[in-house]
Amino acid sequence: MAHSKVVIIGSGPAAHTAAIYLSRAELKPVLYEGMLAGGTAAGGQLTTTTDIENFPGFPDGIGGSELMDNMRKQSIRFGTEIITETISRVDLSQRPFKLWTEWSDGPEDAPARTADAVIIATGANARRLNLPGEEVYWQNGISACAVCDGAVPIFRNKPLFVIGGGDSAAEEAMFLAKYGSSVTVLVRRDKLRASKAMATRLLSHPKVTVRFNSAATEVIGEKKPNGLMTHLRIKNTATGEEEVVEANGLFYAVGHDPATALVKGQIELDEEGYVATKPGTSMTSLEGVFACGDVQDKRYRQAITSAGSGCVAALEAERYIAETEASEDIPPPHANPAL
Ligand SMILES: Cc1cc2nc3c(=O)[nH]c(=O)nc-3n(C[C@H](O)[C@H](O)[C@H](O)COP(=O)(O)OP(=O)(O)OC[C@H]3O[C@@H](n4cnc5c(N)ncnc54)[C@H](O)[C@@H]3O)c2cc1C
Repeated sequence: MAHSKVVIIGSGPAAHTAAIYLSRAELKPVLYEGMLAGGTAAGGQLTTTTDIENFPGFPDGIGGSELMDNMRKQSIRFGTEIITETISRVDLSQRPFKLWTEWSDGPEDAPARTADAVIIATGANARRLNLPGEEVYWQNGISACAVCDGAVPIFRNKPLFVIGGGDSAAEEAMFLAKYGSSVTVLVRRDKLRASKAMATRLLSHPKVTVRFNSAATEVIGEKKPNGLMTHLRIKNTATGEEEVVEANGLFYAVGHDPATALVKGQIELDEEGYVATKPGTSMTSLEGVFACGDVQDKRYRQAITSAGSGCVAALEAERYIAETEASEDIPPPHANPAL
């Protein structure tokens, strides 16, 4: 059975930044990039989008897949071993930690690998609504990230819609108001879930309208390859009445699902299922297990913040490995006193 000092699970900006730092530190990291893990290609969420305009260093923007290919090459260049398999089971109860891969993870199967330290960088997925038309117009008018996509030309001075009633929906709507001709927030129920302060700001915003008891039921648009959305069918959830309105942008703010099923019950998760980390660090509730990127960040969810936290995880894992190697008696894994 293969053993590594450090294993990274994931393949987005967080995982690859950690891999670049750890391989340059000559720790020979092994990175499991996943085989369509959680339905997303190796490379993570950025492989599902086109131009990234806010990642520093690319003044003309860069394609999401190209950016991730570059990060992957950089990880390999310094000696990261990349394995295109999904980690489907881990045992973090004893050191070394044990990891199994998909299809070879039965009770009788030996682990694929053991590791002294594990970095969890499995990311998160924006929830979708599976509306008719959603597949066709995803990224051609529909987005799950206003900060990422709001500034692109197709949304400038156009009627935009946000779905959701919480703080994220309110934040996204007010952000989009800088660009759109109007922003309408569709709230399924008759009240907002957002905090009082946020709700007050939203309801008093001159460019934002909140439509209660309203749900989008269909996205309509140009019928040609890469056609853009142009209209939205909206249903009044109280009366059942439907209408079609002009809409050039639709932003989902209905939550994200962090990919934490793998470690649930073994390390501490917060009430929304994200890995709990000590603020400002990548340390989880278990020593030797670190988390970075969207799997532990429900606030910023950006490529650059994920990359930054990947760097933090690598430096902390490196220090942890050095400290455990220096001590003669390797202690059993125990709760992280820092958390
Ligand atoms: C459509 C879209 C557009 C975006 N645009 C921008 C933008 O313009 N600018 C910006 O800064 N951010 C943007 N983002 C957000 C950005 O993509 C995320 O913040 C960032 O990718 C999170 O990185 P991450 O490293 O946490 O992991 P992710 O990108 O979430 O990747 C993690 C990946 O790890 C792999 N994985 C998961 N589980 C396992 C497992 N068990 N075993 C092995 N592998 C596994 C999967 O491939 C998974 O996708 C966008 C997001 C989306 C969805």
